[in-house]
Amino acid sequence: MTRRATKIVATLGPASSDPALLEQMIRAGVNVVRLNFSHGKAQDHIDRAHMVREVAQRVGREIAIMADLQGPKIRVGKFADGKVMLEPGQKFVLDAARTELGDIDAVGLDYKALPREVKAGDVLLLNDGLIVITVDAVKGEAVYTTVKLGGELSNNKGINKQGGGLTAPALTAKDMDDIRTAMSFQADYVAVSFPKNATDMEMARQLCNVAAAEYGHKPGLIAKIERAEAIPRLEEILRASDGIMVARGDLAVEVGNAAVPALQKRMIKLARENDKFVITATQMMESMISNPVPTRAEVSDVANAVLDGTDAVMLSAETASGKYPLETVQEMANICHVAEGYEDFKLEADFTGKTFKRIDQSIAMGALFTAHHLGAKAIVAMTDSGSTALWMSRHLIQVPIYAITSKVATQRKMALYRNVRPLFIDTSADRDTALKEAENHLKTRGIVQSGDVYAITCGEPMGAPGGTNMLKICQVS
Ligand code: PGA
Ligand code: MN
Repeated sequence: MTRRATKIVATLGPASSDPALLEQMIRAGVNVVRLNFSHGKAQDHIDRAHMVREVAQRVGREIAIMADLQGPKIRVGKFADGKVMLEPGQKFVLDAARTELGDIDAVGLDYKALPREVKAGDVLLLNDGLIVITVDAVKGEAVYTTVKLGGELSNNKGINKQGGGLTAPALTAKDMDDIRTAMSFQADYVAVSFPKNATDMEMARQLCNVAAAEYGHKPGLIAKIERAEAIPRLEEILRASDGIMVARGDLAVEVGNAAVPALQKRMIKLARENDKFVITATQMMESMISNPVPTRAEVSDVANAVLDGTDAVMLSAETASGKYPLETVQEMANICHVAEGYEDFKLEADFTGKTFKRIDQSIAMGALFTAHHLGAKAIVAMTDSGSTALWMSRHLIQVPIYAITSKVATQRKMALYRNVRPLFIDTSADRDTALKEAENHLKTRGIVQSGDVYAITCGEPMGAPGGTNMLKICQVS
């Protein structure tokens, strides 16, 4: 595998639940696996999580597991025939009170509040915007609409309101059950769907921490930015989260396709400036669900996300249910690697006008600056919580960051950070022993050779979180 700074998140599903295939996918570049709780049963996710841990151990690389909650996705009910074909101009009713199965004239709703949250003139998008209907009137529990853009509508397809404004709370009863399931296998990250504000994220964090307490675990929290209301509140959502996902699928439906590329750039920049990580998601290699090669547009999309500075790019159906899960990962890894070669490094600009309040953060920035200007071969961060490595990785530089930790949970979390290569070394011994071991590690892996310079940060006393207070520049003898 070639050197690559951008990380790959792959969704597991029926097409990628075989250990031998997963092993190949990890070797080809998967850093994080996503378990999508919108599909499958709790036991499927538990089985996949165990498979991931086993295969990762076999490969000798730690993989982060992300549990992605379904959230309050608003959906139509089921149809008598499984689906209907809606024609432009026809009338169609979304009826919250309907108990019988749907037909060509009407369908039930699992989100009972919908009739109170839409009014005549609103535009609703079904099935990720493939079908567009406008609201003519709301009478009681029924929403009367006219189909503008027709198409096939099948069981349980999603509904979005253009411009946003549906008030469903971010966590459903199912999400709370799923959090407990995810904590039982200590998922490293929990992704929250459709958060509107910081409070939604704070609530999710509390629920996760309570469910994880008995395992002595604390997952990282990811806010999926996919509601129009979340956009003006990005900064408060970032403050309440460890990272965000540019969830382009639902976001595009709410804000309009054309707004998404610029919002993606803004979100990536804002996340980095706020010391948070960011994942770019949805349809990145969509055509590879059924084709062995990506389109030029998909190649550009992945490369542009890399050049925007994303930490990770994500695969959804491509790896969960597509025909070419392994080939997709291989292609994506290569696109990232090549795009990184064209990166623009602006470290000085990142620091202009900046002041630091924390000692550990100042050391991290000092290491970065020195390593960049000295042409160091590597930066080594001895880290307990991972924050030193995260701060360093908020700036694009060509020098790889090796994050050494003696905590497996930290090692797994860091799998998501751009340009960070997490390594496990028991650093409980005295400082000099730990530093020597770190150097030996770099040497045996061929990262540094005699004469090479690297920068290393650590804390004294060792092992105290937030204690980084030393920077050492070493030349390999
Ligand atoms: P989903 O989220 O795949 O869970 O819907 C991602 C998105 O909306 O882009
Ligand atoms: Mn979504």
